[in-house]
Amino acid sequence: MDERIRARLFVEADLAAGAELALPREQAHYLAHVLRLGPGAAVALFNGRDGEWRAGVGGLGKSRAVLRVETRLREQAAETDLWLVFAPVKKTPLDFMIQKAVELGAGALLPVITRHTAVERVRRERLRANAIEAAEQCERLTVPRVDEPVSLSHLLDQWPAGRRLLLCAEAGEAAPIQEILGDSDPGGAWAVLTGPEGGFAETELDAMRKLPFVTAVSLGPRVLRADTAALAALACWQANLGDWRQRPPRRA
Ligand code: SAH
Repeated sequence: MDERIRARLFVEADLAAGAELALPREQAHYLAHVLRLGPGAAVALFNGRDGEWRAGVGGLGKSRAVLRVETRLREQAAETDLWLVFAPVKKTPLDFMIQKAVELGAGALLPVITRHTAVERVRRERLRANAIEAAEQCERLTVPRVDEPVSLSHLLDQWPAGRRLLLCAEAGEAAPIQEILGDSDPGGAWAVLTGPEGGFAETELDAMRKLPFVTAVSLGPRVLRADTAALAALACWQANLGDWRQRPPRRA
């Protein structure tokens, strides 16, 4: 029997040895018709709570697949506490931003509507589907939560105590991100905030700079697209304060 793990899937169900789970239609179709797996094939499952498990494909039909959970491959592990707060941008850069934020370990993806945000509607289900796909591919053990968009003022009014917010400020007073992160203790609860294609309004930047939990940071002399800025800031944070400082376990 082919022991190789042929796919990695996020599921909502609890995972434990001997559990049987029926996959929803689209995942069943993916296994049966895209990957063309047959009974006995091995897949990896994770649900964000119980670690990662090996499962065997049992019955496979046109729109259904039954998996039998066998052995635990990885324990659920604590993750860095890093959020991405972002003004939604157009579809393609937004899809890119979500995918990169997942790969870079963001634990929550919070869309925020600012003065110059040009995108009317944020399709949360689409963002969540992108996040799941990216989490499956990069072998994370969690899928970040994706919230409904809120206004910037609402977000700041409800900001959780103890979490620092790195405001990626394309203009005005801002310290180099490396300086801020280099002087900070590893870990802790942080967030990165990027603006829309049109940038933040001056009044927004002024108001945010006054908040005790906000630090305005520069990402260098060039004007980055929002998706580039998000990726760059998240990478800087992981390298200085996050899980890029630890050696990743050697993959088998
Ligand atoms: N249109 C604006 C730029 C907006 S870029 C202008 O021409 O000035 C979108 C977002 O990316 C910005 O709101 C900011 O959050 C981030 N960003 C872009 N370049 C940056 C830089 N050099 N430093 C910090 N943040 C930056």
